Amino acid sequence: MKKKNEDRCKFSDLGIAEKFLDILTEKGFTIPTPIQHQIIPGALDGKDVVGIAQTGTGKTLAFGIPMIQNLAKNKGQGLVIVPTRELALQVAEAFQKVGKPLGVRSAVVIGGISQHGQVKALKKNPHVVIATPGRLVDLMDQGIYKLDRVKIITLDEADRMLDVGFLPQIKKILQTIQKERQVMLFSATMPKSISKLAAEFMKIPLRIEIAPQGTSAENVEQEVFVIRKNDKMRLLESILEQYSEDTTLIFSRTKHGAKRIARNLRAMDHTATEIHGNRTQAQRQKALYGFTNGQFRIMVATDIAARGIDVQNISLVINYDLPDNSEDYVHRIGRTGRAGRYGKAISFVAPTQSADVKKIERLIRKTLPVLALPKLPGARTKLPRRETDAERRAGGSGPRQRGRRSGNRNNRTHKHMKPQDKKAQEYGSNISNFITGYDPAKHQGGRMSKKKRGSGPRGPRKGGTRGITGRKTHGGQRRSGR
Ligand code: AMP
Repeated sequence: MKKKNEDRCKFSDLGIAEKFLDILTEKGFTIPTPIQHQIIPGALDGKDVVGIAQTGTGKTLAFGIPMIQNLAKNKGQGLVIVPTRELALQVAEAFQKVGKPLGVRSAVVIGGISQHGQVKALKKNPHVVIATPGRLVDLMDQGIYKLDRVKIITLDEADRMLDVGFLPQIKKILQTIQKERQVMLFSATMPKSISKLAAEFMKIPLRIEIAPQGTSAENVEQEVFVIRKNDKMRLLESILEQYSEDTTLIFSRTKHGAKRIARNLRAMDHTATEIHGNRTQAQRQKALYGFTNGQFRIMVATDIAARGIDVQNISLVINYDLPDNSEDYVHRIGRTGRAGRYGKAISFVAPTQSADVKKIERLIRKTLPVLALPKLPGARTKLPRRETDAERRAGGSGPRQRGRRSGNRNNRTHKHMKPQDKKAQEYGSNISNFITGYDPAKHQGGRMSKKKRGSGPRGPRKGGTRGITGRKTHGGQRRSGR
C-alpha cells in the first residue's frame, strides 16, 4: 500500500530541467518523496546538505538529481562515497537509470575485485565516480586517481562508514578535493562523530531530517519473540511456514551463523541464499540478484553485507540475532517497508537481552510488543549434510531443492559452475559493463548461451544522446575534452 505522500508537490516544482523531468516521468518517478522534495531545490542551488534519512526514503535520487544537473551546468566530476560494494552497485544502477538517457557516464570503484577494469573506467573521465572509501584511497595512493576534477561529493550512509572505521579515508578524501565544492552527507542516525565531520568539512549545511533521529520506518510493524538460543531455528521454521509467501531477509550477527541458518533453511526445502563477508564479491552479487528476481525467497545476511540492499518487495525482516548496536536495528528493519509499502520486522530476543531491547526502544521511541510463542515444530534430529561447494555457491541447489519449494534455476547450471576465483575475475572485468548496460540476467547460471552472448552489452550508439543542457553527446560520452 502506498502512503499518501506529498500529493501537493511535483518534481516540476523543484527547479529540475525540462529534459530531466521528462526522463523522470518516463522512468516512473512522478511524485517526489519527502526527502527529494526538501533537498533537491537547495542542492540544485549548490548548497551543502545534511540529510538524516533512512534507507528506502528515496535519498539516492535526492542527491543524484542535483548532482547530475549541477555537473551538466558547471562541469567537473561527482563523487559518491558509500560504505559497501553492494550499495555502490545500487547507486550506480540508480544513476544509470536516470542519467544514461542524458549521456551521464559513471564508474564504480570497489574492493574485492580486480582494480584493472576500474582503472580503465576512471581513465575515461566519467561524470560520476561511485566508490567505497578503501579502494578509492588505495587508487589515490597509487597515483592512479586524483580528485582534482571533483566538484560535488556525496557521503552516503555516513554513520555506517564511520562504524566500520572509514573515518581516516573519508577525511583524506575531503581534505584532498578542492575547497570550492558541494558536499552532501546522508546518514540514518546522527552521532556526534558525524556532526563533527559536517562542522569541519561543510559550509553551514541545509539540514533536512525526514524522521526524527533513529525513528524506525513508520510503516514497519515490529514484534519480538523471547526465545532460548536452542529453540531459535524451530521458531524460524514456524514463522517461515506462517509467512510462506513473503520475501524474507534474515539477519545473523555472524558470518558463520548466516551460513548455518541458510544451510538449515535449504535443508528444509526453502529457496535461501546468503550474503556475508566470507563470500566473494561475485557470489554476493549473484545472491543479491537471485533474491531480487525471486529465484530465492529468503536471504540470510550479516549487517555489513546487507547495507544498501534495495530490494523493493522484502515484506518480512527477521532478526535471528539482535544486532550489536541499536542503530543497526534501524538499518535492518529499513530493508522492508520501502518506498511507502508496509512491512514486518520480527526479532528473536534471548531472555538475557532485555537491556538490548530497551536500548533499541529508547532509540526508536517505541515499545516493541512481545508476542507469545507459537507452537514450535519438533526439533529436527538429523542435521543437514554438509553442502558441496557448488551447492553453496549457487545459494544451495542440492538434490533436496528439487522438492516442493525449489524453483531454483541453478539446478540446471551446476555443470557450468566455475571456480570461485575465476568467477570473481569474471565479475571484475564486467564491472564497467554493469554500469554501462550490463544485464546480470544474461549471466544467469554462469556462462551465457551463444545466442545470449550475441545480444550482450552493446557498444556506443551511433546517434548519441542529448545531455540536460540539450547538447548532443556521442556514444553516451560528452565530447568536451574532459
Ligand atoms: P533509496 O532510499 O534511494 O534507496 O530509494 C528506495 C527506492 O525508492 C528505490 O527503489 C527508488 O527507485 C524508489 N524511489 C525513489 N524515489 C522515488 C519516487 N519519487 N517515486 C517512487 N519511487 C521512488
